[in-house]
Amino acid sequence: MATVINTLDARALRHPEKANRPETPVLRKPDWLRVKAPGSAGYLETRNIVKSHGLVTVCEEAGCPNIGECWTQKHATMMIMGEVCTRACAFCNVRTGLPDALDGSEPDRVAHAVREMGLAHVVITSVDRDDLPDGGAEHFAAVIRAIRREAPLATIEILTPDFLRKEGAAEVVIDARPDVFNHNLETVPRLYLRIRPGARYYHSLRLLERVKERDPGQFTKSGVMVGLGETKEEVMQVMDDMRSAGVDFITIGQYLQPTRRHAAIDRFVEPDEFKALETIARAKGFLMVSASPLTRSSHHAGADFARLRAAREAQLRDAPTAGTAA
Ligand code: SF4
Repeated sequence: MATVINTLDARALRHPEKANRPETPVLRKPDWLRVKAPGSAGYLETRNIVKSHGLVTVCEEAGCPNIGECWTQKHATMMIMGEVCTRACAFCNVRTGLPDALDGSEPDRVAHAVREMGLAHVVITSVDRDDLPDGGAEHFAAVIRAIRREAPLATIEILTPDFLRKEGAAEVVIDARPDVFNHNLETVPRLYLRIRPGARYYHSLRLLERVKERDPGQFTKSGVMVGLGETKEEVMQVMDDMRSAGVDFITIGQYLQPTRRHAAIDRFVEPDEFKALETIARAKGFLMVSASPLTRSSHHAGADFARLRAAREAQLRDAPTAGTAA
């Protein structure tokens, strides 16, 4: 007897918690969100390196629209600690469920891939691991140490989960001294219960603030998606909250609905509106702002890091020296 697995079952396997959610149609993308299908020689080379080291990337798992462009330039964001997440955010396409045990060889495998790809700047993210006593903080730190050992010239950017209810975990990661500590607020506080039900807005904000308190030299970065039903005023409030927490770099991009059972898109934000948000964010004092329909946390992360560092140097150079008369 033939076994038929329909698409609904396939989705339920990937996101079991969403199996009974009502379906909403995935809207057709406007022209400004359309990208070329991947397939360049550089893209294929990156894919081979990723596969040969047995690595997982968020580029693939999240179905990122920028994969053709990024992988052509040998820029992939590696996702550590497996491909199964313990949270069930309404916007995210990463598989949910009970993850496997941590793989102790992963830090070395990631570090070897970074060396082989000759990366000047590497972005490491992870699934959420609420099942682990430290949320995976020590594993994150081990990956950072391994990359420092194998590729000492590479700068390291991490995009972490929130380590909610994991006392002392954030400190372990901060003390491993990545160059950039990124944690996304994702959306405005009013929408947390619907979009990010397992997280707490204030906790995420405090995580970013704690990085600056513990290691002021570490760059902090955070992002929000728009198009989920937030208002412009709410996004501006999030900018103010981030600046109060000392965040250096804000990213703002369009939310795209991965499947019919994920949160519905409220609207496609026009490119001009992104430009206006960028202007507002710059006026609020961020060192770096990336706001466009296709902006993602790790998009152009290497070039943006160079600009971020230059912006801080310029700011320090231009700051009035203590004691100089006005
Ligand atoms: S934007 Fe980030 S997640 Fe998307 S393809 Fe590029 S590196 Fe990967």
